[in-house]
Amino acid sequence: KQRDPHQTVFHQAVEEVFTSLTPFLAANSHYAEHGLLERLVEPERVILFRVPWMDDAGNVQVNRGFRVQMNSAIGPYKGGLRFHPSVNLGVLKFLAFEQVFKNALTTLPMGGGKGGSDFDPKDKSDNEVMRFCQSFMSELYRHIGADTDVPAGDIGVGGREIGYLFGQYKRLSNEFSSVLTGKSLTYGGSLIRPEATGYGTVYFAEFMLATRNDKLEGKKAVVSGSGNVAQYACEKLLHNNAIVLTVSDSDGFVHFPEGMTELQLEALKELKNERRARLSVYAQEQGLPYHQGLSPWHVPCDIALPCATQNELDEADAAMLLGNGCICVAEGANMPCTIAAVDTFVQAQILYAPGKASNAGGVATSGLEMSQNALRMSWSAKEVDQHLYNIMTNIHESCLQYGHESGGFVNYVNGANIAGFVKVADAMLAQGLV
Ligand code: NDP
Repeated sequence: KQRDPHQTVFHQAVEEVFTSLTPFLAANSHYAEHGLLERLVEPERVILFRVPWMDDAGNVQVNRGFRVQMNSAIGPYKGGLRFHPSVNLGVLKFLAFEQVFKNALTTLPMGGGKGGSDFDPKDKSDNEVMRFCQSFMSELYRHIGADTDVPAGDIGVGGREIGYLFGQYKRLSNEFSSVLTGKSLTYGGSLIRPEATGYGTVYFAEFMLATRNDKLEGKKAVVSGSGNVAQYACEKLLHNNAIVLTVSDSDGFVHFPEGMTELQLEALKELKNERRARLSVYAQEQGLPYHQGLSPWHVPCDIALPCATQNELDEADAAMLLGNGCICVAEGANMPCTIAAVDTFVQAQILYAPGKASNAGGVATSGLEMSQNALRMSWSAKEVDQHLYNIMTNIHESCLQYGHESGGFVNYVNGANIAGFVKVADAMLAQGLV
């Protein structure tokens, strides 16, 4: 905190993990030796670069580009790129730190990293996005590689951006390699990758409910966000005959009083992914109530899936959800709940899953995309989905292994943090002081 006093979200992420680890380290003191904890919070490398590009009016724009290569103890750095005006080094260090433990939980050989830019793709033309991506990759390409660092998408980086980034990497390196995941199917992408984070989050909610002999069918679910993760979380909820009551964006939320239908989901995908329009337009087109400036948490529900961004659900929201009867929260986004909100859920002993466990299906399927690229094969949607389901099952089992408390309550926060830590820490200790 003294070194980087302004990196508050990074401190928050570290505090959450280290709070879980404290009792575990007291009983396993060798993990606190060799500067292990100090090394875990210091990125192996940070790359910060200028990204100049020309807008459609012929003006030069300059953004900042970043790549945080946090930890490569168990594999090449792996983690998404975020394009959003709120991106800064502290945000990316928090995301990279979380990614280290999340990737370890998948059991696939992937280290942790994260990157991006303060560039805002909203309201930019396709040509502007392409010029930006080409400029961004013109610097990044020398720092990444299929066995070094394999970026993917995140907020503001979807199929379109990955395509432009991949094209520029290929051109500069004269190499067609698995250097990015989230690619389109036409050039090496994996089936089920777009769906994976949202589907995996719902699988995790299903497993948590099963520990209490409960199921998704008929449950009322409140979802935030309306991007990649939210769309496929809604899809999998509908597959399970759950009732989806909301989606949101940074301006407000749409309420589906009767529950979202399959047709309304298809219209949402078309609006967000093709027309790139706002939810206020969607609500108008669908004749649905739109609540400007509000978050969806005050809608009574059984299940809440925060799938938008960090710290979007605070202590008051958590209390409101509990008051309205919510029994299960699975994070699709990274750290969407504040520490006080998490404490509120854990104290109430409801089913609560931190993102590093419940949203790990996305990066896991990116790992499967890398495997398919290495084999020069592509697996069927059914095969990839089965792998995803099995990986989410194993992550849930790891959380149970380390998260059981007296009285039978499962603390998934401790479970995920300790299970991820043990794998990375063992590899770091084996590799000496690096
Ligand atoms: P998208 O860009 O596809 O969608 C982001 C959604 O979140 C949009 O609806 C956006 O609304 C909303 N949002 C973004 N910033 C804010 C904000 N400050 N306040 C309220 N709403 C906001 O991103 P993804 O769906 O890919 O990512 C969502 C979350 O999931 C992120 O936390 C990401 O790190 C995490 N995640 C994503 C994975 C993936 O595979 N894509 C994997 C694991 C985690 P608006 O359009 O108004 O900005």
